[in-house]
Amino acid sequence: QELHDRIDQLIRDVEDFPKPGIVFKDISPLLADHDGFTAVVNGLAAAALDEAGEPRVDKVLGIEARGFILAAPVALRLRTGFVPVRKAGKLPGPTHAVSYALEYGEATLEMHQDAIEPGDKVLVVDDVLATGGTVNATKELVEACGGEVIAVAVLMDLSFLPGREALGETPLHSLYTI
Ligand code: IMP
Repeated sequence: QELHDRIDQLIRDVEDFPKPGIVFKDISPLLADHDGFTAVVNGLAAAALDEAGEPRVDKVLGIEARGFILAAPVALRLRTGFVPVRKAGKLPGPTHAVSYALEYGEATLEMHQDAIEPGDKVLVVDDVLATGGTVNATKELVEACGGEVIAVAVLMDLSFLPGREALGETPLHSLYTI
């Protein structure tokens, strides 16, 4: 509850961004607040701790771009490495790629083929879960490498969109639900 209230105070609504009719949840004030940022990183990392408080993942994946900001400190907190999932054409090495439908058009996400070993357990971190398309594409990338997404951790999920259902069996750890 304390974390929920802190997030509530430190995110802001920006109307008509990135296009008319969309109310964009801006997390910049939260990132700029040391105590808020710390609490959020600890809250996200908790998704991948076992009952004894030990990390139970081999890698933390962050999704470009705001997912990077959250996932990298979560990876350090969990004493694991960080893997970037990027928009098409940004990664230099051989990649797996998955395309998925957006509200208008299509997007492609990529991950290096050698970023995940077969059998690796992975935590996926992003800022906002909306329709779930982005996170599901990321799950496919992990599975293409033979890894397993053990949980998805997001700062915020939008409950008026079907993101949670779209994840299927994969547990969602969300710090703030709208
Ligand atoms: P989805 O694929 O529909 O679940 O959309 C999630 C992706 O879009 C995430 O990578 C978010 O960064 C981004 N996104 C969607 N809505 C918002 C928002 O209101 N604020 C910030 N990012 C958003």
